[in-house]
Amino acid sequence: MADSVITDVDGETELQSLRYRCADLVAANRELHKQQQELQWLLQINRCLSNTLDKNETIDSLKEFFFTNFAWAEFSLLLKSQLGEKLRIAATFGSGLKTGKQLTLNHSDPLFNHIIAHNQPLYIRDLQTVDPLPRFTQLQSGSLLCLPLSVAEDQMIGFVAFGKETRENFSLDEIERLRLLCGHVAIVLHKTMLYQNTKDLAYTDELTAIFNRRYFNQCYEREIGRAKRYQRALSVLMIDIDHFKKLNDTQGHLHGDRVLKQMAQLFDDNIRKADILSRYGGEEFVILLPEIRAKEAVTVAEKLRKRVKSQNFNKGTGPAGGVTISIGVAAFPENGVMAEEVLHKADLALYAAKQGGRNRVVVANSLTND
Ligand code: GH3
Ligand code: MG
Ligand code: MG
Repeated sequence: MADSVITDVDGETELQSLRYRCADLVAANRELHKQQQELQWLLQINRCLSNTLDKNETIDSLKEFFFTNFAWAEFSLLLKSQLGEKLRIAATFGSGLKTGKQLTLNHSDPLFNHIIAHNQPLYIRDLQTVDPLPRFTQLQSGSLLCLPLSVAEDQMIGFVAFGKETRENFSLDEIERLRLLCGHVAIVLHKTMLYQNTKDLAYTDELTAIFNRRYFNQCYEREIGRAKRYQRALSVLMIDIDHFKKLNDTQGHLHGDRVLKQMAQLFDDNIRKADILSRYGGEEFVILLPEIRAKEAVTVAEKLRKRVKSQNFNKGTGPAGGVTISIGVAAFPENGVMAEEVLHKADLALYAAKQGGRNRVVVANSLTND
C-alpha cells in the first residue's frame, strides 16, 4: 500500500513536469513558426530586388507582397521626392489614396513631422481621437500604423502606412515584426532608387535636363525594331539652331546656354507624350515620332519651327524672332529600313535646309539625289 502511494506521487510529479515541458515545447514551436514566417517574408522581399532593378517593378512586387500577407483595410507606400519636399503615393491598396498623388510636406504638421523629420514610427490607436485626420489616409476610424523606411539613423526615403478598421488593433508583437520588415523594404527600395538615379543621370543631358545622345542611340534602335515588328511608321526630326555661333559670340555663352534650355522646354511642351526628345549634340536636337509618317512629321516640324521663330528668347529684354531652327525630316520605312539609313536621310535633309537658306523644314522624300 505504502509502495503504491509513493509510486502515485512520483507519477504525478512526472506528469506535471511533462506538462511543463509540453507547454515549453508549444511555446518554442510557436516561436520557431514565427521565425520561420519572418525568414519567409525576408526571402520574399529580397526576391523583389533580385528579380529586377527597375524601381516601378520593385514597388509593384512589394505591394503584391504586402497584399498577400497583410490584406488589411488600407496600405500606402509613400516615397519622398528627390528634394525631400514632397511625398508621393507610390503604391496603395484598400482605401488608400490614389497612386501617384503628391502631398506637400508641411513642417508644421505634427504627424508628418513625427515620421519624416524625427524618423519615428507613429501608431494611432484610435483615429477617432485625432483631429484633423492625417492627410495620407482615407480611413475615418480604426487604427493606423506608420513605419518610416530608414536607410540610416538620419536618412529615410519615405514610410509605409497600415490601416485596420478597428481601433487598438496592432499588437506590440505585430508592430515589432512590421518594423523589421520595413527595415528590409527600405534597403531594397533604396538600392533600386540609387540604381535608377544613376541610370537617369547617365541618360540625361546636364544643361537641358532632356535625354542625351546615349539615350537616343539606345532608344532609336529599340523604336526602329518595334516599328519593323508591328509594321508601323516612325519619323525622325533632326533639328539644328541657325547661326548659333553668332548668337554666342554676340550675346555671350551664358545666354546661349539659356536659349538651349528654353529651346528644349519649348520642344517638350509641343510634342506628344509618346515622342522622344533628346539633345543630339551642341545645338542639335533629335525627336523620334513613333507611329508618325513623313507627311505628318512635316506638320509637327513646321509647328516647332514657327513656335521657335515667334518665341522671345530674351525674356522680354530684347526683340522676339531672333532665333530660328532648321529641321530635316525622314521616316521609316519611306526613307529606309535600316536605323542608320533613316538617320542619315534626316541629316541630309537638315543639310539641305541649311543650304536652302535656314529657318525651314526639308523632308527626305523631296531630295532627288541622296
Ligand atoms: P548653322 O546655322 O550652320 O548651324 O550655324 P551655327 O553657328 O549654328 O553652327 P556651328 O556648328 O558653326 O556652331 C555651333 C555653335 O554651337 C558653336 C558652339 O560654340 C555652340 N555650342 C555648342 N554647344 C553649346 C553649349 O552647350 N552652350 C552654348 N552656349 N553654345 C554651344
Ligand atoms: Mg550644328
Ligand atoms: Mg547650328
